[in-house]
Amino acid sequence: MAEVEPRSHDVLIIGAGGAGLRAAIAASEAGASVGLVCKSLLGKAHTVMAEGGIAAALAHVAERDSWQVHFRDTMVGGKLLNDPRMAEIHAREAPQRVRELERWGAVFDRTRDGRILQRPFGGHTHPRLAHVGDRTGLEMIRTLQDRAVATGIAVYQECTITHLTTTDGRVSGAIGYWRADGRPAAFQAKAVVLATGGIGRIYEVTSNSWEYSGDGHALAYLAGAELIDMEFVQFHPTGMVWPPGVRGLLVTEAVRGEGGILRNRLGERFMWKYLPDARRHEYAETDDEAMRWVEALTEGRQTDARQPPELSTRDNVSRAIYTEVKEGRGSPHGGVFLDISYLPPDRVRRKLPSMYDQFTELADVDITRVPMEVGPTQHYMMGGVRVQAETGATTRPGLYAAGEVAGGMHGANRLGGNSLSDLLVFGQRAGVAAARAAGALRAMPALSASQVDDALAELEEPLVRGAGDDPYRIHQELKATMQSLVGIYRTENDLDAALASIAELRRRSEGVRVDGPRAFNPGWDLVFELRNMLIVAEAVTLSARMRTESRGAHSRLDHVLSDPAWEHLNVVICPDGLAMRVEGTPAVALTDDQRTLVNKG
Ligand SMILES: Cc1cc2nc3c(=O)[nH]c(=O)nc-3n(C[C@H](O)[C@H](O)[C@H](O)COP(=O)(O)OP(=O)(O)OC[C@H]3O[C@@H](n4cnc5c(N)ncnc54)[C@H](O)[C@@H]3O)c2cc1C
Repeated sequence: MAEVEPRSHDVLIIGAGGAGLRAAIAASEAGASVGLVCKSLLGKAHTVMAEGGIAAALAHVAERDSWQVHFRDTMVGGKLLNDPRMAEIHAREAPQRVRELERWGAVFDRTRDGRILQRPFGGHTHPRLAHVGDRTGLEMIRTLQDRAVATGIAVYQECTITHLTTTDGRVSGAIGYWRADGRPAAFQAKAVVLATGGIGRIYEVTSNSWEYSGDGHALAYLAGAELIDMEFVQFHPTGMVWPPGVRGLLVTEAVRGEGGILRNRLGERFMWKYLPDARRHEYAETDDEAMRWVEALTEGRQTDARQPPELSTRDNVSRAIYTEVKEGRGSPHGGVFLDISYLPPDRVRRKLPSMYDQFTELADVDITRVPMEVGPTQHYMMGGVRVQAETGATTRPGLYAAGEVAGGMHGANRLGGNSLSDLLVFGQRAGVAAARAAGALRAMPALSASQVDDALAELEEPLVRGAGDDPYRIHQELKATMQSLVGIYRTENDLDAALASIAELRRRSEGVRVDGPRAFNPGWDLVFELRNMLIVAEAVTLSARMRTESRGAHSRLDHVLSDPAWEHLNVVICPDGLAMRVEGTPAVALTDDQRTLVNKG
């Protein structure tokens, strides 16, 4: 304990993406002193990578749009497993959060008459995504960062949090280390907000970057909080498949939103075959109708033509591509073709500048001239820490969660664009609630010396252990297990095999050893990320095993249909001594008004 000088804040926020920054602004404006910690540099979070846009029913392009339609789309996309209170708050508040960003200096693409331009995206009835070309996240993070820093928060960069502390059953701080020199770091707080993002690194093929090892999910679980909907892992249909070094890198849905066409090796526009019967009426019936829709979009006018089949929901398009490849109709590198080259080259370069650069620089492919090759990639985690809709409070006192680390909002499948709006809406609410909770506590909870000492000892162990397994090898094996056994399609046998493999990997991980000093030591970083990834992998697999049906992003080959018995149940994970408990729990029911809205479609 003598080694660490704790820093104290009313509210400690772990994670500096969109959710963390928006929470920081809200907590600071509510009068709390705020510390914001992130394991990389400020501004380098997933949010900055977001390309397609922010979903909000501003009704600037489609006057018929409204929060009610956005709510319905979100619930239908989530197969009605979303927490309806979260989906309603989100749909109602997203427009004001976007306008607020604009007031704070974000410059969105405009309609001809100067309003915020909105683009169509899969599963959204109307063009709804406010965007800045395909660099929306950059504009959002720049704006939030400026605003957050101006409110006077303290920012701690390149600091990895590995443990949460508790005092009298309440989360009261965090322990970790400074990546630059490996020194321990400690924080005391009256309230802690988790905003650590996703879990992509448990898979081999992912659009996520190195930071996304499910740290917040695991920290919450280790502190006794519940996780929900962990079986619902989103595989985005379009990641790069070639060259191997960039496999999984995202090809934004905006390509399909701008008119991109999916074809198999035989040149067939295969998505027509995969539209679910119940929603077929929402999509164009012919190439001509789909083309009229694209032309109207290009000219910025409304149309009665229906959207192309490529804009079906992500879970559906991913399964379609997977099936085409598996049945031998894939492209040379194991994907399918995505073609936008039939549009004028200057339009492609203007609307999709990052995609143009990404393919030219990384694959030597000019997307204005030839199709891209794409295939599914793990992209987003619908499951996360169970929170109260209004406040982001977890099931553990003093602990809040917002953004991708929180569960409930997206149900069984997230619609594109609904994450950026989720970060803003629930980041703001979690920040306000955490500041309020901090204000209600008179004294700063004391850090427990024994908890700090235990955490520091755990940090030290892999560096001083004489012999042990290599964390990289265990990580490779974990990714291979999850990719092959807990991917787009699942079976009970595969999930059992995955659980056995995860248990064995966990046993080996408890005795890992790393060489080298503490400073910027990626092997040492991996030890704690591995602990977290193993927790998340087990939670995903146990939840997937329990849900004996197919729904949204969770597809079981041994239970191919949705089962009415599961329609109103969420799967919840929580610690039970040293074991992980999994159970079905009744989903939050729709109110009568909400049911009327959902049934309107
Ligand atoms: C390529 C790509 C494109 C996308 N495009 C879109 C889009 O167009 N529209 C949309 O709605 N969504 C999009 N998404 C999804 C969306 O960007 C993410 O879901 C969202 O940005 C997550 O935001 P967040 O604030 O929850 O976390 P992040 O932005 O992921 O930030 C997490 C923060 O937590 C920190 N952190 C993590 N672990 C620790 C730890 N142990 N200690 C300290 N700090 C930690 C990280 O350093 C980081 O600062 C996209 C995702 C990707 C990968």
